[in-house]
Amino acid sequence: MRIAFIGLGKMGGGMTRNLLRAGHQLTVYNRSREKAEALKADGAEATRSPAEACQNAQVAFTMLADDSAVADTVFGEHGIAAGLPQGAVHISSSTISANLARRLTAEHAAKGQGYLSAPVFGRPDAAENKKLIVVAGGKTEEIERVRFLLEAVSRAVFIAGREPFHANLFKLCGNFMLSSMLETFGEAFATLRKSGADHHAFLEIMNELFGSPVYKNYGTTIADEEFEPAGFALKLGLKDVRLVLEAAGEVDAPMPLASLLRDQLLTAMSNGQEQLDWSSISQVASRNAGLTIDRNP
Ligand code: NAP
Repeated sequence: MRIAFIGLGKMGGGMTRNLLRAGHQLTVYNRSREKAEALKADGAEATRSPAEACQNAQVAFTMLADDSAVADTVFGEHGIAAGLPQGAVHISSSTISANLARRLTAEHAAKGQGYLSAPVFGRPDAAENKKLIVVAGGKTEEIERVRFLLEAVSRAVFIAGREPFHANLFKLCGNFMLSSMLETFGEAFATLRKSGADHHAFLEIMNELFGSPVYKNYGTTIADEEFEPAGFALKLGLKDVRLVLEAAGEVDAPMPLASLLRDQLLTAMSNGQEQLDWSSISQVASRNAGLTIDRNP
């Protein structure tokens, strides 16, 4: 299939390589051109604008940082909406707001283009190794038409519903639960470490109890305080907690824990942690407990 892929960061790079490995023809675009040029060796064609990338595409993927990056890239003068042929589908995999997903659905439909939300769970290594979990939202027939592409970048595809923005809500609520876990690790480890107890031994017990690779991986990262290089930058984690609070506010659903997480992430940002992994939210609890931070940025 002829695919345009826009956004070749930590996640987009791996997803692109998996689509190329599956035999698809890719035209790619990235704001910093060197990332697009680097993919030429893998068989992709680098282009100079999102519109140019989309010119002959049947499907356009986006994997961009946030709402404003997606809105600029889609609705800008040389954007996706201007270049994508009628009947082609835009698949948005970035973690964006429910509101922007609604706008994308409406504006693409007005141009005769399809739109699906397909955010993902999994870190850059999962993107590279086809281990992502994709959550797709949109019309069933449209999802089925491109399901093989979603499968080419993932280990599992789940359907959130016929409304694209429902997939974005699933992703935001999922990240809320992940960030809650990071905070609980931070608070528990701070108490244990300050008491002189072995937090690594505690982690082994929690792994037995929860039996989750997510707990195990993040627990180890936090126990070892290995926050660089960031798999998922803390500033993007703050974006997601803000977005879940926005979505909850729209339906008058209080999320007191999400409010706390936003403040903890803001505290981490104020301490210069925006480019560290978001699991470094745990350093806020450590600092509050008066513990020494190994890597105080
Ligand atoms: P990243 O490495 O920072 O890549 C961000 C991408 O967006 C880059 O291609 C960047 O271009 C582009 N971009 C940023 N601002 C832009 C703008 N104003 N205009 C045009 N392009 C812009 O981020 P990532 O970790 O790949 O994350 C991408 C998305 O996936 C985010 O929505 C994130 O929340 C989500 N996500 C991430 C993970 C993870 O573990 N990393 C997991 C699941 C979902 P440049 O190269 O020019 O900077």
